[in-house]
Amino acid sequence: MKIVMLGAPGAGKGTQAKQIAGKYGLPHISTGDIFRANIKNGTELGKEAKKYMDQGLLVPDELTVRLLLDRVSREDCKNGYVLDGFPRTIPQANVLDEALEKLGDQIDYAIDVDVPDENIVRRMSGRRACLSCGATYHVAYAPPKKEGICDTCGSELVLRDDDKPETVQNRLHVYHEQTQPLIDFYARKGVLRTVDGTQAVEDVFEAICKILG
Ligand code: ADP
Ligand code: AMP
Repeated sequence: MKIVMLGAPGAGKGTQAKQIAGKYGLPHISTGDIFRANIKNGTELGKEAKKYMDQGLLVPDELTVRLLLDRVSREDCKNGYVLDGFPRTIPQANVLDEALEKLGDQIDYAIDVDVPDENIVRRMSGRRACLSCGATYHVAYAPPKKEGICDTCGSELVLRDDDKPETVQNRLHVYHEQTQPLIDFYARKGVLRTVDGTQAVEDVFEAICKILG
C-alpha cells in the first residue's frame, strides 16, 4: 500500500504517518526528517536545505525529488510506504507519478488531514521535536513524560527553528500557494480521502484506519 499524507504544516501528518506505518508495517518516509538529519550531521545537502527551511520556504524540487526517488527505490519500500511531507508541489507529484507508472504502479490513498489555519499556529508553537529519533510532542496535547526530554531516546527536545511564529506564517502561505493544489490533483485520480484533523489524535487515527481497512 502506497500512501501520501496531505495537509498544512502542523496538521498532524507526521503523528498519523508514524501510527499508520506501525499498524500496517510500512516505512514512514518524511522528507522533513531526512533534511533535519542531514542538517544535524552537517552534510552538504543539509547545508543547502537549511537555507530554505529556516525561511519557511520549500527546498527546490530538483534536490527533493532526487532524495525521495532514491529513498523509495530501497528494498524496504517494495510493499509500499507512507509519504509524509512529499509531494509538496505539483511537479513533485508528477515526478512520483511517472516513476510509479513506469513500474505499473500508483498511489493508493492520499489522505488529507484537514485542519484550519487558526489551529495550526497553536499546534506548531507547542510542537517539540527530538532531532535524534524524530519523535514529536506537543506541550499541551501530547507532552513527554519528563518535560523537555524525549520519551523514546532520552535526548533533549527542541522548538524547531521553522516552528517560530514568524516562520509559521510563511509556511502557511507557501502551503496554500504550492501544496494545497495537490488536493485537487489526487481528487482527480480518485484516491483522495479527507479526515477531520481537529479531532483528538486517536480519533483521527480511527478515521484513517476505516479508510485503509
Ligand atoms: P505535521 O507532520 O503535519 O507537520 P505533526 O504531526 O508534527 O504535524 O503535529 C504538529 C503538532 O501538533 C505536534 O506537536 C503534535 O504533537 C500535535 N498534534 C498532532 N495531531 C494532533 C491532534 N489531533 N490534536 C492535537 N494536537 C495534535
Ligand atoms: P516538515 O518536517 O514536513 O514540516 O518539513 C520541514 C521543511 O522541510 C519544509 O518547510 C521545507 O522547507 C522542507 N521540505 C520538506 N519536505 C519537502 C518537500 N517535499 N519539498 C520541498 N521542501 C520540503
